[in-house]
Amino acid sequence: MTTTTYELTWDLDVFFNGGSASPQFIEHLEKLKTDLQSFEEAVDSWTIPTDANDSSLINLLEKFQVVSQNIRQAGAFVSCLQAQNTNDTRANELRGMVTTLSSRFSTILTNFDEKLSSIGSDTWNGLLKQNSLKELSFVLNERRTKAAEKLPKEQEALINALSIDGYHGWGEMYDTIVKHVKIPFEENGKKVELSVGQAANKFSSSDPNVRKQIFEEWEKAWDKQADLLAGTLNHLSGFRLSVYKQRGWDHILKEALTYNRMKSETLDVMWEVISDLKQPFADFLQRKAELLGVDKLSWYDLDAPVGEVNTTYSYQEGAEFILKHFQDFGDELTTFTGKAFENRWIEAEDRPGKRPGGFCTSFPVDEQSRIFMTYSGTPSNVSTLAHELGHAFHSYALKDTHPLNRGYAMNVAETASTFAEMIVSDAAVNNAENDDVKLALLEDKIQRSVALLMNIHARFLFETRFYEERKNGIVSKKRLNELMEEAQKEAYLGSLKEYHPLFWGSKLHFFITGVPFYNFPYTFGFLFSLGIYAQAVKEGKGYEKKYMAMLEDTGSMMVEDLAMKHLGVDLTKREFWEEGVKLCIKDVEEFMEMTKNK
Ligand SMILES: [Zn+2]
Repeated sequence: MTTTTYELTWDLDVFFNGGSASPQFIEHLEKLKTDLQSFEEAVDSWTIPTDANDSSLINLLEKFQVVSQNIRQAGAFVSCLQAQNTNDTRANELRGMVTTLSSRFSTILTNFDEKLSSIGSDTWNGLLKQNSLKELSFVLNERRTKAAEKLPKEQEALINALSIDGYHGWGEMYDTIVKHVKIPFEENGKKVELSVGQAANKFSSSDPNVRKQIFEEWEKAWDKQADLLAGTLNHLSGFRLSVYKQRGWDHILKEALTYNRMKSETLDVMWEVISDLKQPFADFLQRKAELLGVDKLSWYDLDAPVGEVNTTYSYQEGAEFILKHFQDFGDELTTFTGKAFENRWIEAEDRPGKRPGGFCTSFPVDEQSRIFMTYSGTPSNVSTLAHELGHAFHSYALKDTHPLNRGYAMNVAETASTFAEMIVSDAAVNNAENDDVKLALLEDKIQRSVALLMNIHARFLFETRFYEERKNGIVSKKRLNELMEEAQKEAYLGSLKEYHPLFWGSKLHFFITGVPFYNFPYTFGFLFSLGIYAQAVKEGKGYEKKYMAMLEDTGSMMVEDLAMKHLGVDLTKREFWEEGVKLCIKDVEEFMEMTKNK
């Protein structure tokens, strides 16, 4: 195994030297402005083609691609700056600058798309026969359809302009509020103030008093901000709904489904199967409660470890563990991951002032990714690390495709990440040195199923119901709590004693403006990747090529077609989803068998 000691902090200087004070980054933004200007002029003066041999579209797409990559590069850099230090006010200013540029880009694209959609269909079909446009058929047709479903360009341009302060501004407000959330905690007789991320890690403490104490303080801290949070959520969602109404979209999930390139039948059948088959997970939670010596679990016990096994891994151990098990699956994934560790693509340090959670973002200009998380050594931290590496590998798998075909949606994005997570957790269970360790790891794995089939389900139920109510006016803080608790009770089949009604405020995902309904794609990705994983296990290392071919298509197909082409399955039918959920239930059955006499 490697002898390199991996560093806990990432390298951002390789992109732009000097953090939020980087003169290089300002130069990048200036250049971007010029490129935007030139793209805008090109779009404005573009005469709608009437001849199938016209080459003007190809030239425009060239400019489009350059601007798009550079904006994503800028956005990625600022996301990293903001996450690594929530007190970096300069980073927030930079965010504002990037948001302004992105918004201008959207406005130009609205104009572009409208022109695109007004090309006559005969000319259009002729154009798509051109060699350099053929491979872009899917994404270009998608743009035409989306444009046709929107308002006239002047109105869409106005919406875009207003969204900077009226919509995305609310998303940014959330970050500002979270910055003020501090969770007081007593550690070794000393009072400390934890950041949200640090406090969240305490929920996996083996000490029930620690979990209970942190949860009480956690609820209090979020409750203190609940008025601001409720206002923020109501205005953000109100803006979104007003736009939908103007466009004549009644289905609150329309944007999310279109974005995720999936049919509503697929989503409905997925939740239906999960609801029908989830009882074993409630039984599991009941067994876990017995193992922890309580009659029922509470929200804050969900992540508690079972048993006395010390399954803490140093960052180095975690990294080596991941590398070792990726090796069973494929050489390209392993080599890629090794480089990510060596070249400091990962920010993992456990320190105050970091944003909670984890993410992976790609810097398309350099064809590199960066991973953000707070690593404190729990098995679930190791899983998160593998998860984010899966995202990074997905970007890598797309490197040879046309840049405009790399825009994959969140549901398939979560496929690669979950797949990577599964390799690590499965191998860990299978290679456990004794039954106690095996049980702890198995439990960690089932926790993930519980998170995706119950927790995410609760978020989905809450969010869809909240949006329906929001159509009729402001939804009060009290009502938000009620809706959340109801959703949690339903999703967990009433198996918990205490719930987390303020979850609508503590979870960033409800405040994301870039992508609406930031929940069901996780579950989709999880079950979708289970299907792929089952095949990979059967076929061994040789599967990596096929896997990467599937990833390559993720930016240019409907998910139903992707599944049919690479897995030979119909996502609108129950069978595929049932198989996935049953794989998760097998873990539960093994757990129940192992613990029946404990
Ligand atoms: Zn993810």
